[in-house]
Amino acid sequence: MKKETKIRGITWQLGNSGTITPVAELEPVGIGGVTVKRATLHNFEKFKVLKLSAGSDVLVSRRGDVTPYVEKVISYQRGSLPFEPVKECPVCKSIPVVNGKFLECPNSWCDGAKIGDLKKWASVTEMKSLGIGGKTLEKLYNCDFVSNPSDLYTLEVEEIEVLDGFGKRSAEKIVGVIQSKKELPLSEFIGGLNIRNFSTSMVELLVENGYDTLDSLFALNLDVLVRIKGIEDKTAKAFLNGLENKKGVIQGLLDVGVKIKEKKVMETNTNGKLSGLSFCFTGKVEVLNEDGDRYTRTMLQNLVIANGGSAVSSVRNGLTYLVQADPSSESTKTKKAINLGVQIISDVDFLSMITRIERINMDVI
Ligand SMILES: [Zn+2]
Repeated sequence: MKKETKIRGITWQLGNSGTITPVAELEPVGIGGVTVKRATLHNFEKFKVLKLSAGSDVLVSRRGDVTPYVEKVISYQRGSLPFEPVKECPVCKSIPVVNGKFLECPNSWCDGAKIGDLKKWASVTEMKSLGIGGKTLEKLYNCDFVSNPSDLYTLEVEEIEVLDGFGKRSAEKIVGVIQSKKELPLSEFIGGLNIRNFSTSMVELLVENGYDTLDSLFALNLDVLVRIKGIEDKTAKAFLNGLENKKGVIQGLLDVGVKIKEKKVMETNTNGKLSGLSFCFTGKVEVLNEDGDRYTRTMLQNLVIANGGSAVSSVRNGLTYLVQADPSSESTKTKKAINLGVQIISDVDFLSMITRIERINMDVI
């Protein structure tokens, strides 16, 4: 569903991974029963390409009925100069750096980045879907209760219940959820560390290749990593640097009793929307979640499982759907799917199959 509207301005949001994302402020427009006032431009590259200025007419869609998105510019306002890129991190005022298509805050002590680390941990470990959202984490961070993910595990009901906006019941719920996430699969443990340029799906690739313990990951070096199919030089370096930088955080988590589960037990929900269907994911996931961050492959796989489907790692006979973000992709999985007659759908098509997440925070993206 697409609608035409005008651009009022651009704001810049710091995402969990330290990425600063441009967001278009729009003349409010109704799309599919929801008033859309803001739409993501996805990344810095897209911002540069579109050269938007105040008053530009644009076509806005709700991709897969989830995230408002500026599809294209219809016409530019004459005499209106293009918006300037942001000059400082919206949180810590550091000068942003360009990394590929993205603009990033380089300051690892940026409050935004520290809160981002907490949000990432809560999201990957699914504390978030159990009620520990960004607002709660921000409050806990701002009153100095929590600065690293490990601090979450030492929180006590008595500390939280006296804070503004929390009561005994919500404090008990928060502590309960956190304590229920003390044993995690390796992919969630590493994926939750918020290592820049290294996704949870990459950890899964390592696990699939036999590096399924923390010790085996720490023993990896660049030579070994780049020989793993699907891991490029850049990703390998990001992982090794990230793991080194996160040593203290990892130790902190182990010290408070967080454990790594041997293998994730897949719980099936036989009444779910995707019951009886199987999904395999390929390629980089492009679709954004309600925080403006990209969905990880694990998050999508977890959605499959939560809705009663099965998530598999390879294309085989009997697979219902291959989900690929890039329709022009010619990966081996794609070729195999075509040969076997497996239906290929986009990540957006996939999300629209699960109406449960359709209407989350539409106005704030
Ligand atoms: Zn910053």
